[in-house]
Amino acid sequence: MVNSSSPELLRRVVVLGTGGTIAGRAASSDDNIGYTAAQVGVADLLGGIEAPEGVTLEAEQVAQVDSKDMSFDIWQQLARRCAQWLAQADVAGVVITHGTDTIEETAFFLHSVLAPSKPVVLTCAMRPATALSPDGPQNVRDAISVAATQGARGVTVVCAGVVHGGVDILKVHTYRLDAFASGDAGPVGYVEEGEVRLVRAWPQGEALPATKLLGTAGVQWPRVEIVMSHAGASGAVIDALLLSVGTEPLRGLVLATTGNGTLHHALEAAALKAQDAGVSVIRATRCVSGRILPKAGDALRDAGALTPVKARIALMLELLG
Ligand code: ASP
Repeated sequence: MVNSSSPELLRRVVVLGTGGTIAGRAASSDDNIGYTAAQVGVADLLGGIEAPEGVTLEAEQVAQVDSKDMSFDIWQQLARRCAQWLAQADVAGVVITHGTDTIEETAFFLHSVLAPSKPVVLTCAMRPATALSPDGPQNVRDAISVAATQGARGVTVVCAGVVHGGVDILKVHTYRLDAFASGDAGPVGYVEEGEVRLVRAWPQGEALPATKLLGTAGVQWPRVEIVMSHAGASGAVIDALLLSVGTEPLRGLVLATTGNGTLHHALEAAALKAQDAGVSVIRATRCVSGRILPKAGDALRDAGALTPVKARIALMLELLG
């Protein structure tokens, strides 16, 4: 757990850049989709942004990727840099500029491994930096406001004026600027003219034991795959994964289930076989809201309210820990 410090010392907000559409460039200002992500440096993203009074901004480029290509190495590096910055007494919080595609995975990962008592605020954009009306600058400014807010803590994601909890956030739209939702939990709050209006408590958590591995070079992330249940599903994908010829052996399997954790019978039979063979199997619902309500006699454990991609991260960390 990262420690907080006395409020009068909290003066810096550190903005870590990782790429994404927020740092994207297109050939024309009319083009909001045909751009290349991760082109503009984080220091340039801060150009023209005024920090809240008494706050100084610091920029650091941790990565420069389209977040669809996010990697474990970048996650490790990001978690390490967050922890190092947050440990400094005069750092109020960290902002991370990120692509929208996997922002919910990075947020969940950071929540799991850091459980910070200072704010770590991810932000993004749905339009590139070159757009006629880019959404990135306002999102960054809002995220800085959250990071500088007294009492703010935990991992959150700020987009289109909404503060989402790092565990609850889900991308729900392909194009609209307000592309995220927080499911049943609802948002943590809203940013209005630089002020945070909180509607529920800041996220809290306990850092997982796997955290100690973040300082270790060359961590071997266990192979965990996601297989979806659907009409006409079979056990063929799981059978092929179990063979894993010439690749890293399968350690974990997330089943993206229908409804309340239900599986096509053929897929379930293959999953039970995998579990018997020593693979860690977990069910996570493919529904966008709600959680799996466990029933007596369930042969495969469930991931509660976690989406399949978040359940995969939780399972990888569990296997690492
Ligand atoms: N592919 C982009 C990314 O995730 C999409 C975005 O940022 O909106 O980096």
